[in-house]
Amino acid sequence: MSLPRLSIAALGGTVSMQAASPDQGVVPSVNGQALLEQVPRLTTQARIHVETLCLQPSASLDFDFLLGVFDWARRQVEQGASGVVITQGTDTLEESAFFFELLWDRDEPLVLTGAMRSAAEISADGPANLLHAGIVALASTSRGRGVQVVINGQVHGASRVRKSDALALEAFSSPVFGANGLIIENTVRYLHAPSARKTLPPPRRSGQRVALLEAALSADTLLLEKLLELGYDGLVIAGFGAGHVSKGWAEAITALALQIPVVIGTRTGAGSTASHSYGFIGSEIDLIQRGAQMTGLLCPRKARILLWLLIGCQRSNELPDYLQHFGK
Ligand code: ASP
Repeated sequence: MSLPRLSIAALGGTVSMQAASPDQGVVPSVNGQALLEQVPRLTTQARIHVETLCLQPSASLDFDFLLGVFDWARRQVEQGASGVVITQGTDTLEESAFFFELLWDRDEPLVLTGAMRSAAEISADGPANLLHAGIVALASTSRGRGVQVVINGQVHGASRVRKSDALALEAFSSPVFGANGLIIENTVRYLHAPSARKTLPPPRRSGQRVALLEAALSADTLLLEKLLELGYDGLVIAGFGAGHVSKGWAEAITALALQIPVVIGTRTGAGSTASHSYGFIGSEIDLIQRGAQMTGLLCPRKARILLWLLIGCQRSNELPDYLQHFGK
């Protein structure tokens, strides 16, 4: 029986990083082929096509580039790949995973992975993560589940996963929901049934701007007042607690919400925004009356990705449906 085909793209990040000399910091320099050579076991399970699409720290990836990666991944499955793996930096992995989740309309698994220890470190986690990502991408049980993040022996759904520790090996979690699955003895065991998918076509434009601001104690309203003048098309606020802001911010939101979508999430890192509990100025009831929309369980960073894509598809009127789907 011939082996299935697996396509791997390397984008950079710590998984691809090493230092030119011992006194220098690590930078992306290990290409996709070299990453694959650290995981010979994967080549016994699939015919592998590997490409290095860039070698960047993930902070410098952008939506236009990711749209190109999406096209590349689609081409791979059109040409017969059973699954696709993308390696990238972990700093923005939670965002790019959700970006792809919203666009990926194929049954073939798209799996993202990275590493917390650079290629040169003792006990680097990159090779095991790449092997596990390949295993998940090739598993028939992964089909129809959309985009998964595979790291540290866990499988996380793209709409829930967060980087919740800056340097720990166990840096990723899916607050409230927990991991979607585990790698057990080199196979994937899913813990949850697949959830319904809701995707979008690739955006028709990509120049739109969506700001993400975090509510903070005693923060002034200057940025909010300048937002329209600066040309922003949407605003996401990581609000206090269950999705709250100060009186000053609430008043500034009234004018904004008449012109652009304003979305309120929680800055806490876990849990849902409220919808009908608090009645003070700046509470969720007040903000909804001013025209803002609450993210529910969707984290503000992912809400920004959603709004950016909806605006790009000229479908921002569907934001309530998408927030309902991903926020519940
Ligand atoms: N520290 C990051 C990483 O884990 C760097 C990056 O995101 O590129 O890959």
